[in-house]
Amino acid sequence: MTSRLFCRSLRAWRRLTVQPLLRSDPNTRSSHSGREGRLESSSAKNFTDIGIRRIFSSDHDIFRESIRKFFQEEVIPYHTEWEKAGEVSRELWEKAGKQGLLGINIAEKCGGVGGDVLSMAIAWEEQAYSNCTGPGFVLHSDIAMPYIANYGSEEQIKRFIPEMTAGKCIGAIAMTEPGAGSDLQGVRTNAKKDGSDWILNGSKVFITNGWMCDVVIVVAVTNREARSPAHGISLFLVENGMKGFIKGRKLHKMGLKAQDTAELFFEDVRLPASALLGEENKGFYYLMAELPQERLAIADLAISACEFMFEETRNYVKQRKAFGKTVAHIQTVQHKLAELKTHICVTRAFVDSCLQLHEAKRLDSATASMAKYWASELQNSVAYDCVQLHGGWGYMWEYPIAKSYVDARVQPIYGGTNEIMKELIARDIIHDK
Ligand SMILES: Cc1cc2nc3c(=O)[nH]c(=O)nc-3n(C[C@H](O)[C@H](O)[C@H](O)COP(=O)(O)OP(=O)(O)OC[C@H]3O[C@@H](n4cnc5c(N)ncnc54)[C@H](O)[C@@H]3O)c2cc1C
Repeated sequence: MTSRLFCRSLRAWRRLTVQPLLRSDPNTRSSHSGREGRLESSSAKNFTDIGIRRIFSSDHDIFRESIRKFFQEEVIPYHTEWEKAGEVSRELWEKAGKQGLLGINIAEKCGGVGGDVLSMAIAWEEQAYSNCTGPGFVLHSDIAMPYIANYGSEEQIKRFIPEMTAGKCIGAIAMTEPGAGSDLQGVRTNAKKDGSDWILNGSKVFITNGWMCDVVIVVAVTNREARSPAHGISLFLVENGMKGFIKGRKLHKMGLKAQDTAELFFEDVRLPASALLGEENKGFYYLMAELPQERLAIADLAISACEFMFEETRNYVKQRKAFGKTVAHIQTVQHKLAELKTHICVTRAFVDSCLQLHEAKRLDSATASMAKYWASELQNSVAYDCVQLHGGWGYMWEYPIAKSYVDARVQPIYGGTNEIMKELIARDIIHDK
């Protein structure tokens, strides 16, 4: 623990773990958290103010302060350097581990921090408010780690979770292949039994943390004869350094410049039986169960990025002069800001309700898909408008809004494209319940 503030926030998490936020008794809820006086985003002075939104408590505020400080001191000053390198430093991962920033929502008994869903969301939001997309913390902590914590054997949990929480073991998940992205049932990477071992062959592409990862969860076909491809897919834990596991090049991306995204190759990788994650041929079900959290994370990151861009733009138009007055005095600019603020507040209300549903384990796949689709589309339209309101300076890399613009573009693509989100939403609409 590096600071007194953090010790306080950790104690606050522990309280949150044993005093779940969503209680059936509303009196208990308000007395615990003092949420009645909290402003909603629409009435707050600033979208990024600490102490707003009634889904949070004062304990969450303490935690948010410590995370904000971490991003300000340990991430923002180094990010440009990491953009050039195409990866963040390993040291950052260990610092994040020491701060308790990794595995926030993974149970303490598994070796995680044991915080609630809202504490995990605070980490997403603070990363978005820092405008630094380099650290692949979300993928590691809230997308990869839950598979191990939820489906791993005792041995796997003991081996990986504490190290991942400490930032000493970086995690990734490899589903996408050069020939199979949206259609996960089309994966060709396969694992064949050899005695009690498995022999893994195939390749993956676009893997976040792929270059730096120490362990990667690999989606592979284990039964070609299954009655449908979904019934013949399993997950494996593949470790850096295993013979035949080759990391390809770091991919040169439009945005997310400091985040390492790589190709991975598996050439006759011999895996012990203990590398199988969960049950054989159940991989597709595990993916379906875990994807809503990934989509919620993208939605919350997206709406938080909108809030960041709005505040950047508000500040800019209030100081930029044109025709003898500030740009903020122009009525069409004011109307544009009014539109942006309204869209952001409406979306924030929906995402906050999804966060609460997820805390209560009631977030279904279609609702998570709506949040991901809607918020990531909004992020891109807000990015477009905010760059426009910056004029030519908005196109310059030295202005944060330029980075926000390019980083936004991938959000409707990964985590399942928004076209696939509409498929999932539509399926739920026409399905007879
Ligand atoms: C920066 C980045 C990081 C990523 N990180 C990871 C990671 O860590 N792990 C991982 O496994 N993957 C990762 N991905 C991969 C990502 O999830 C896929 O790119 C995404 O799922 C889309 O697959 P695809 O690229 O093969 O597109 P395709 O599936 O080829 O789709 C092409 C187009 O066709 C549309 N389309 C396809 N099927 C349908 C349909 N049924 N109905 C309507 N439209 C359809 C798509 O929406 C899209 O517009 C990452 C991608 C990027 C860019």
